[in-house]
Formats: sequence, structure tokens, C-alpha cells
Amino acid sequence: MEQKVSQYDLLIAGGGLAAFLTAAIVLKKCPSLRVAIVEKNQQRSQHTWSFHAKDLSPNALDIIGPLISQKWDEYTVKFPDHERKIALEYCSIRSEDFWKSIGTLTKTVTRITGEVCEVDKTELRLSDQNVVKGRIVLDARGVSGKNFAKGTGWQKFIGFEIETDEAHGIARPTIMDATVEQIDGFRFFYVLPFSKNKVLIEDTYYSDIPHLDIQKIEKEIGSYIQRLGINKYKITAKESGSLPIPLNHSYLLSKVNLPEIGMRGGFFHPTSGYSLPFSISCAEQLAAQIFYAKHVHSDLFEKSRQSVYISRMALFKSAKFLIRLNRMLFRAAAPEKRWHVLSQFYRKDMRTITEFYSGKLSLKTKFSMITGVPPVPLMSGLKHFFSDAAEFHDRKAIHG
Ligand SMILES: Cc1cc2nc3c(=O)[nH]c(=O)nc-3n(C[C@H](O)[C@H](O)[C@H](O)COP(=O)(O)OP(=O)(O)OC[C@H]3O[C@@H](n4cnc5c(N)ncnc54)[C@H](O)[C@@H]3O)c2cc1C
Repeated sequence: MEQKVSQYDLLIAGGGLAAFLTAAIVLKKCPSLRVAIVEKNQQRSQHTWSFHAKDLSPNALDIIGPLISQKWDEYTVKFPDHERKIALEYCSIRSEDFWKSIGTLTKTVTRITGEVCEVDKTELRLSDQNVVKGRIVLDARGVSGKNFAKGTGWQKFIGFEIETDEAHGIARPTIMDATVEQIDGFRFFYVLPFSKNKVLIEDTYYSDIPHLDIQKIEKEIGSYIQRLGINKYKITAKESGSLPIPLNHSYLLSKVNLPEIGMRGGFFHPTSGYSLPFSISCAEQLAAQIFYAKHVHSDLFEKSRQSVYISRMALFKSAKFLIRLNRMLFRAAAPEKRWHVLSQFYRKDMRTITEFYSGKLSLKTKFSMITGVPPVPLMSGLKHFFSDAAEFHDRKAIHG
């Protein structure tokens, strides 16, 4: 078979959320760039990607505005010991809307269907022997187990999007309803009302294992829907996933010679698992560097590599603290008592909550997060918060 070779300015392996957001943001700044994305699947995965509006720059919000399916001014959190309304703008993008609108933002992007076997500094090798070359090559092939150490916690969930026969009457999102039975770790329901008859309901677990008992969880979702007073409905979509919740920071230090972006590059909030704002801010940095490199004719690849590295290091600074909180949540609290940690967090002031989600925590916020009546046994909490030995143990487990 004859080998085909094509050449682009920006070439991305994997065509998911991070790849298309990056392409859209870079093209906005440098419209003449020749961009290609290589994706192995013909069919797009079902997702709803949510984020707090405050976590994005005004420029990014402007660019991705057309992708947003729904915005709410506030949401609710519920725990066995208290309930609170949080006045923070929350946005969601349903994959259906994402794939419809992203085409307009990335209409000059060449979409290649193929499985990437090898990612190199300047080329991608595909399973059909073809080679695609790029002046900048990025790896956005999604979360990779190899980057995570033994001892990682998991956020896992199954969600149903349903259409109800009668108006469901749910006015605003509930992003955590932990008033349900606490099984398999910290457990809560997530409820997003998209319209008066359409609602997404997810059963979520902060668990020690990634395995999802699909039959059992789907039954639990059915019971919860009844508890909301919804009797007649049809399921219009399902989504599920298990995301790593890192308990040490080696995934951000792993020696990668190539710029990895999205979940693969560690661009996600270590505790909430949200990746969209982190992928966007990495893309903004990259766009600025490419723009600069194009205008001063410097080495494009080196500029992009540096920019991903700089974004990852910025993330590393705040991630370290959040990973310590993860260790407190997963190791110091008994699984059925983990909800106390989140319940206590949601009693904090709005500044603390906002900074926590943004992943950019000031010293004052860090202090606020670790003071007060401890939600876990004090000695165990301190031990795991400062447990560099455990961290070392985990790193040894990966690097041998
Ligand atoms: C069900 C679910 C809900 C989530 N909800 C949110 C949320 O509300 N907010 C939020 O911020 N984050 C959320 N996340 C986390 C995260 O944002 C998503 O996982 C997001 O899709 C990650 O983007 P990504 O581009 O890094 O990876 P992906 O979107 O997974 O894209 C990776 C792509 O690479 C392709 N690929 C893999 N290997 C190859 C190969 N060898 N060759 C070619 N292509 C390949 C895959 O097919 C895939 O299309 C959610 C995750 C899940 C699983």
C-alpha cells in the first residue's frame, strides 16, 4: 500500500473536547494556521460538560459562548446536615450542541479518521501506515492510565438524560445531593434541568475502585427519579465514566517529551475532575505563543512545547494543595463518612468556594480550607495531608 504523507502547522492526536477547544481558540487568534485533528472513532461520545463561568477568561467565554447549551445563575447543594443555595453562574454544554456548533468555529480544520499508534515531535504514525506531519504536534488522546499511580481514587458516575411527560418543576441545578445512602464512598446525585421537560440525573461516587455496577446504579437512578416526583418519562441519553482523582502529583511530573493536553496532560481539577476550564486556559497560552512565534519567526514547535509546559507547571502549583485534600478525603475519612468533608467545605465563604473550583487558591483560601472543626479524625487528617512518604511509595510503584 502506498504511504500518504500530509503536512500541517498544528496537528492534534485525538479528537475530543480538548482537541477541538484548542483548535477553536488557536484559530481565533491565528486564522490562517493549517490545523488537522486525527480521531479514531466515527461516533462521538455522549457527554455533558459543565463549568463555572468565573473559571474562564472573558475572551474564552466569548469564543465558546455559542457552544453553551444552558446557563443558570445559581445552584443548590444538599447534605444530611444542611442545604445551601450557591450564587455562582454555572454553564453546561451538551455534546449534541458541542458537535453542532464547534464545526463553525473549526470549519478550516482537516478531520482525519484514523488510529494514532505513535506520536512524535513532528509527526503522527497511524495504524494504516500513513504518516501525518505537523510543525506542532499535540497529544489529546484522553486520560491515560499509565500516568496515574497506584492508590488513585476515582470519581465515577452514570447519568440519564430524561424527557418527562409533565413539567418536572425543577428550577435550578443541584450539583450535589448527598442526602442519599452513602455507599461505595462519598455519593451524591447531580441534577441539571435543561428545560421544563428535560433533565440530566447522575449518580456519582468518590470511590476507591473504578468499577461501575451498571445494573445496580441504573436501578438507583430510577428510584431517585421517583423520589423527585417524576413518574412518567423516557430516557433519551445515557453517559458514564470513571475519572482518576489523584492522590499524589506524579502524573504532572511524568517525563513527557511531547506536549500532552486535555485529560492526558493532567489538565483537570484534581478534586472535581472538571477539565474544560483547564484545557481552555492551556489553549489560550498556546494561542498566544503561536501568535508570537509566527510574528517573530521563532521555532513554532519549541514555543508550543514551552507553553504547554508552563501551563502544566502553573497547574502543578495549585494541584499540590488540592491533591493533599484528596488524600484527606480518601485516606483519612472512612468511605461512608467522606460526605462530612464536602459538607464542611460548602459552609465556607463564597470566595473560598469560587477559588477552590477555579483551582487558583490564594494562601488565605488554603488557610480557610484547612481551619475549623476537622471533618476527619485530626491525627489521621494531618498524617495524610502531609504524607510525603505515602506519595513517595506511590511514585515508586509507578517508576519502579
Ligand atoms: C461522563 C463524563 C462527564 C464529564 N463531565 C465533565 C464536566 O461536566 N465538566 C468538565 O470540565 N469535565 C467533565 N468530564 C471530564 C473531562 O472534561 C472529559 O473527560 C473530557 O472529555 C476530556 O477531554 P479530552 O479531550 O482530554 O479527552 P476526550 O474527550 O476523551 O477525547 C480523547 C479523544 O481521543 C480519541 N483517541 C484515543 N486514542 C486515540 C488514538 N490512538 N488515535 C486517535 N484517537 C484517539 C478518543 O476516541 C477521544 O475522542 C467528564 C468526563 C466524563 C467521562
